[in-house]
Amino acid sequence: TNRPLTLLGLGDMGTALARTWLAAGHPLTVWNRTAAKADALAAEGAAVAASPAEAVAANTLVVLCLLDDASVGAALDGVDLTGKDLVNLTTGTPAEGRARAAWAEARGARFLDSGIMATPGMIGVPEAGGYVFHSGSRALFDAHRATLEVPAGARFVGEDPGHAALHDVALLSAMYGLFAGVSHAYALIEGEDVAPSSLAPLLSEWLGAMGFFVGNAAERLASRDFTTGVVSNLAMQVAGSGTLLRASADQGVSAELIGPYLDLMRERLEADPVAHAGEDTTGAITLLRRG
Ligand code: NDP
Repeated sequence: TNRPLTLLGLGDMGTALARTWLAAGHPLTVWNRTAAKADALAAEGAAVAASPAEAVAANTLVVLCLLDDASVGAALDGVDLTGKDLVNLTTGTPAEGRARAAWAEARGARFLDSGIMATPGMIGVPEAGGYVFHSGSRALFDAHRATLEVPAGARFVGEDPGHAALHDVALLSAMYGLFAGVSHAYALIEGEDVAPSSLAPLLSEWLGAMGFFVGNAAERLASRDFTTGVVSNLAMQVAGSGTLLRASADQGVSAELIGPYLDLMRERLEADPVAHAGEDTTGAITLLRRG
């Protein structure tokens, strides 16, 4: 018994999602603002609705995969959502997730806000490891879990509808920090007789070894003890940051990507050089919530 569902949004991601539901035998109704994008899916068995209202009316489960929160509001403006189960895969902020949940509930719908941790190419490919964060109505999640897990794994992260976006943004932000550091490393060797391909395995190995930072920081934050088990103390690391900055300058490379983090380490140390000298760098996290 493959449950029927509706999908609004047939961009790159929506189209990839649609194909997995059709392939798994779920009756699927689709709508897209630019109607031509539904043609190929119609040939594959999707029912094409002429309007968002018609698409929403077709099924209880309604999945949204639009560009941003504003497009969700635009597509569903004036549409009767009474009794519907809305799953919003559109990327947004935690605040947008909470506001959209309140908006949906006021219109008589149950609501899940979600964040996709996959590219379109990873959808329907379980071994690729992609998955989706969901938060909001636990009852909706439990009722439709099997259907939601057809395109990619599902991870429920709480009844606060802002928490899927919070997890999504946290992971993506960490990813960009990693990309920034790797970009700086490659810039340093440009123009030298060191091939990127020879640095690559060393970088991968080093970043893997430094992955301990993730769990270490969680322990420090939980205990608020930033000195326990220190291997590299903050005073040494702040002194060492000068070496990194001078080396960048010597290589003609801007430190704009790594500079802010080094500045934050220094700020933490200077706030109380005696108390903080023996910490690791995780105390710097406490400075970021500047309000
Ligand atoms: P696309 O740009 O390919 O598609 C955007 C979709 O939104 C199209 O269906 C577009 O319709 C629709 N849309 C835009 N504005 C409006 C509007 N005002 N009213 C109605 N529909 C509108 O993006 P993706 O499919 O790649 O992404 C969709 C969502 O998935 C985004 O929130 C994205 O952040 C998220 N996501 C994407 C990933 C990816 O790698 N692609 C990864 C993880 C999340 P039209 O065809 O008419 O322009």
